Amino acid sequence: MDNRINGVLITAEGPEEAILRFRDEIIRQAPPASNIKDLTLSEIPVRGYREFTIAPSTTEGSLITEISPDIAVCSECLADMDSDPSRIDYPLVNCTNCGPRFTIIENLPYDRSSTSMRGFSMCPKCSREYHDITDRRFHAQPVACNNCGPLYSLESGDGIITGIRNILNELSGIIDSGGSVALKGQGGYHLLCNALDPAAVRQLRIRKRRDQKPFAVMFRDMDTIEEYCHVSDNDKKELASWRRPVVILDQKKTMPGEINSRLGTIGAILPYMPVHYLIFRVVHTPALVFTSGNISEEPVIKDDEAARKILMPVTGNLISYNRDIVNRADDSVIREIAGTHRFIRRARGYVPSPVDLSFSAEGILATGAELKNCFCIGKGQQAIMSQHIGDLKNISAYNFFRETAERFRKLFLFEPSLVACDMHPDYLSSQYAASLSGQKKIPLVKVQHHHAHIASCMAEYNLKGKVIGISFDGTGYGTDGNIWGGEFLVADENEFVRYSHFDYVPMPGGDKAAGEPWRMAFSYLYKYRGGNFSPSETKAFIGIPARNLDIAGEMIAKGINSPLTSAAGRLFDAVSAMLGLCINASFDSEAPMRLEAAAAKNIKDHYPFRISDVVDFSPAIDAIINDISLKEISYISGMFHNTVAKASLEIARRIREEEGINRVVLSGGVFQNRYLLEKLTELLSADGFGVFSNRLVPANDGGIALGQLYVASEKNKICA
Ligand code: ZN
Ligand code: ZN
Ligand code: FE
Repeated sequence: MDNRINGVLITAEGPEEAILRFRDEIIRQAPPASNIKDLTLSEIPVRGYREFTIAPSTTEGSLITEISPDIAVCSECLADMDSDPSRIDYPLVNCTNCGPRFTIIENLPYDRSSTSMRGFSMCPKCSREYHDITDRRFHAQPVACNNCGPLYSLESGDGIITGIRNILNELSGIIDSGGSVALKGQGGYHLLCNALDPAAVRQLRIRKRRDQKPFAVMFRDMDTIEEYCHVSDNDKKELASWRRPVVILDQKKTMPGEINSRLGTIGAILPYMPVHYLIFRVVHTPALVFTSGNISEEPVIKDDEAARKILMPVTGNLISYNRDIVNRADDSVIREIAGTHRFIRRARGYVPSPVDLSFSAEGILATGAELKNCFCIGKGQQAIMSQHIGDLKNISAYNFFRETAERFRKLFLFEPSLVACDMHPDYLSSQYAASLSGQKKIPLVKVQHHHAHIASCMAEYNLKGKVIGISFDGTGYGTDGNIWGGEFLVADENEFVRYSHFDYVPMPGGDKAAGEPWRMAFSYLYKYRGGNFSPSETKAFIGIPARNLDIAGEMIAKGINSPLTSAAGRLFDAVSAMLGLCINASFDSEAPMRLEAAAAKNIKDHYPFRISDVVDFSPAIDAIINDISLKEISYISGMFHNTVAKASLEIARRIREEEGINRVVLSGGVFQNRYLLEKLTELLSADGFGVFSNRLVPANDGGIALGQLYVASEKNKICA
């Protein structure tokens, strides 16, 4: 056997029947985290082998084997923590079926010497297991035990504590008394505190400078999750899978409002590192806040030095282990919508698993968007998406982007021959692409933002030819220089025509308007009810000084810092503000999330709208204002969601009539709205449309690089 860069080559000798049985067993007994894509048999001359050996790995060509994502600790390793003498309470126990992978690898091929385990030489027992073909740890690269592996320590103002028992004792004292800890994880640090202690959560929130954005919660076990949340069978499968993502669930039992800022959903996760299990043995709470160790919007901290400097002041202590995290990876976040789990954030446990394509993307680097950046590289008929990187306007996120691009070149033996990016000239990802194209003298393909969203979903489903692309989004540079995001496109994998869009409205204050939904409410009212509308008709301006309203009006009237937008996200902002659900946002997408959370599920009707060359929601806005004093918010919100869905159905019908296209592709960040995606999918399906929405990459900007890759590969084919 030989671990090759393009797969595994097994040479076996024996009667044909035995060989065939062996092949079947390989498939039948494959470990849970393995993924056999293809298995072929070919005959070679008999050599008379006498034993099983694993030959040293060889590197050849630029074909590569897949690098495994990190795998949650397996049940056998958990049992070893109680029974294996050298691994009693050993918090980094692992085997071939579990443990860190992507986060510790620096180079190829995947051998211990190419990982951050390099500095730890195996003790005789570990070495024996590593070399014993019958052992579960046979060739497990990060194999380690209490005697030879990395160890945890706890630092605080009082000094350093070592020994996992002592550390856990100290930690339980801190958590049980309402404190918080910074804990080194697999792909970065986490901050933990008792999720059932409102004061502890509030304190952590203040110190982390994370105003309202929901915290993920790690629950002791599935029973506890079921006690606090509504969990479907599919949710359970995902929660317990070796990928161990955060799953967004509907809340069942009251938890401190400080956790999820009363959104009605909980981001739940089960323990996945051995140390998490050890922690739940000592603390008295079954639920821990489990949030990324970062400040505000910076990337999660992975280096001990940075953690000491930045996280120590937050928690007063730091629990780490002496092995480096090579590749940063946040926890992934998924949510079941319309019967399928969808990515909100794709990182640990999934990256760098490729997305299989129906076309060759070899040599294409797609640099993604700016917010929620992920980039993507093409290797043959596969796309390898980077982990979630973040908002590139943040300098540390941009550094993370550049480091990771460099790492991917090494890990996947990737040399770009074509680079694709967003059309937005100011995106740092676009500027990076332009300079790379200049330096390497390789072609640059710019892809319109919403075309890329639609193409990302087309790539997932192997769609070719024309589709009706509905892209609802918060932003995106349009070909007319305006900010798009309520788009109806007739698109294929090469180009698109903008069939229709939401009516343009100004964004008084520019970017500021995205964080201050009252501004969008103002803009819609100004446009549809005239400059002299009465502010008290809605709840959008409660607490906003009259002077600010005057300034906003002036900006719009004079066209100062008021770019035009058709973004659906801004319409949701406006309505959310009008209902008083979110006047000033304290985290990204807060206003649409609150509007979605408020929607009653049993509303069948919708508000009126007008379709001309654009979709005009002024009749709906009028009706909403009329309903504010008469109806429940849940009713108005349900009606509003239905209106957007109904208008979308209407446009799709018109396109079908004119163009004979029956496939509708839905993509863009607004489709993370469960109510909207489910409603629109239902309406379109009932009307006979084929409906496609993202499953393998996020519908938000985290998936856009895949679409850029698809369009670029097509344009490249045409140019060549
Ligand atoms: Zn294991
Ligand atoms: Zn050992
Ligand atoms: Fe977008």
